[in-house]
This record gives sequence, structure tokens and C-alpha cells, in this order.
Amino acid sequence: MDLGIAGKRALVCASSKGLGRGCAEALAEAGVVLVLNARGAEALDKTAQQIRDRYGVKVTAIAADITDAADRARVLDAAGAVDILITNAGGPPPGLWSDWSRDDFIRALDANMLTPIALMTALMPGMIDRGWGRVVNITSQSVKAPIPQLGLSNAARTGLTGYVAGTARQVAQFGVTLNNLLPGSHDTDRAVALEKGVANAQNVSLEEARKIRCKSIPSGRYGTIEEFGATCAFLCSQHAGFIVGQNILLDGGQTSATI
Ligand code: NAP
Repeated sequence: MDLGIAGKRALVCASSKGLGRGCAEALAEAGVVLVLNARGAEALDKTAQQIRDRYGVKVTAIAADITDAADRARVLDAAGAVDILITNAGGPPPGLWSDWSRDDFIRALDANMLTPIALMTALMPGMIDRGWGRVVNITSQSVKAPIPQLGLSNAARTGLTGYVAGTARQVAQFGVTLNNLLPGSHDTDRAVALEKGVANAQNVSLEEARKIRCKSIPSGRYGTIEEFGATCAFLCSQHAGFIVGQNILLDGGQTSATI
């Protein structure tokens, strides 16, 4: 299917690895010009080069912490007029409700709620002026059903979801769509890091922890960054202009709910 977005310009945050990279690759395959971002320059430059070589699109790589205001300003400067924005950043650490201080909450809110809002606030006026735009926020299945040990993530991402729900209805009339993608269990470094914690707590091997997790997923496996990216690219396509303010769960059926 031709997604109809060749030549559009996208900022894909936190995209040297994992889900962000999956989104970047799928957009590149659709002919989108990319601005990529991550903190570590080495992995980022390598990813940028691989995408240039594989898809022949122009890729600009900006090493920066997207949750830091000064760094974010550098990214926005380099990105310029962007048609497509994919927000993403690392997730907060796991823990117990009684572990977290005000500062921990501020850090989580900053990274997973206020950073995407700042990016949308900066880039949506240009999209509105041009009469076309797509925003996809990478959030989490924890928005639909809480993950008890990820209270910081549950709180911050639910706040972002509320903001998007209202704002999406304000900007749709200008041809700009806002939607969220909710990953379940995807095979990335973040998933492995969380599983190491589970394996240690339950005194089982990492392999055993993964087997136990797979049993809780009706599809019986983890998601891939390729299928995540393909869904993101579709939401950014010309065909998705009527999808507004939605929360699309990619979890192999793990969240048991009727709607
Ligand atoms: P990942 O494989 O660890 O990749 C994270 C990517 O983001 C890397 O490129 C990393 O590069 C970059 N990054 C992290 N913090 C950043 C920052 N402050 N500024 C700029 N770049 C940053 O993680 P992932 O699994 O793709 O997860 C992406 C998001 O989805 C996270 O918020 C995660 O909590 C959420 N999520 C993931 C899953 C899953 O199963 N994988 C499930 C639910 C939710 P640098 O380290 O070099 O910056």
C-alpha cells in the first residue's frame, strides 16, 4: 500500500533503538525524510547510516536528551518544519508505591508527559498553518490496565493520554491528527531490563522469566519493532486522516478487555 507520505518530514524522538527505531524505519520505507534523536551519539549515528543505506532517504541525527529543555531546543531547531512527530523517551524505573518521592514523580512527568506536550506545542502550529500533520505518541499498555510496579509510568502516561484526548479534538479541523500507540510486550532492551528485575525477584533465569511472560500473551510471543513501526507509519499515512484521538493497543491480546 502506498502510504502517500513520501517527501514528508518527520521528527522521531528516542529512535536509535527499540520501538522508536521501528517507527523510523517504517517511515523511511514510506519515503519520509527523517530527523532522528537519542542521547548516545554512537548508536544514533550507526542507526542513521543504516537507514540512509537501506531506504535512500535523507536522515539527520541529533544526539540530545529529549527530556532536557536546552537539548530539546537544539532538536527542534534542527528539525525545522515537521509534518510528522513521533514522541518517545525512556520509561521510568519500576518500584513500589511507597518508594517514590515528589522528585521521582516530577522526573517521570517531565519525561513521559511534559516532554511530548512541549514537542506538540512547538510543532503543531506549523502543521496547522500547512493544513496537514500527524502526531503519534508512544505510551504504554499501562494506560488501559495498570502495571502495578510501574506506578510512575502509569501516572505520567495517563496524564499525557488525557491531554491528547482533548487536544486531538481541537486540532483535527486543521488536518492534524493526534493518536497514541500503546506497546505491550515488545522485544527491546527496555523489555529485557524489566525482565531482569522480574527474574531476580522471582529467583528464576531470564529465559524462564520470558517464558512466563509469553504465557500471559494470547499471541504467545513478544511483539516486534517492525510490526510496531508499520502501525505507526499507517497512523501517519494519508489513509489515517479520520483516526483522531485514539489509543491503539499493540499487545498480542495481553490486555483482556472487550473494548
Ligand atoms: P529501548 O529499546 O530501551 O530504546 C529506547 C530508545 O530511546 C533508545 O534509542 C535510547 O537511546 C532512546 N532514549 C531513551 N531515553 C532518551 C532520552 N531521554 N532522550 C532521547 N533519547 C532517549 O526502549 P523501548 O522498548 O523501545 O521503549 C520505548 C518506550 O516505550 C519507553 O518509554 C518504554 O517505557 C515504552 N514501552 C515499551 C514497552 C516494551 O515492551 N518495549 C512496553 C511498554 C512501554 P539512548 O539511551 O542513547 O538515549
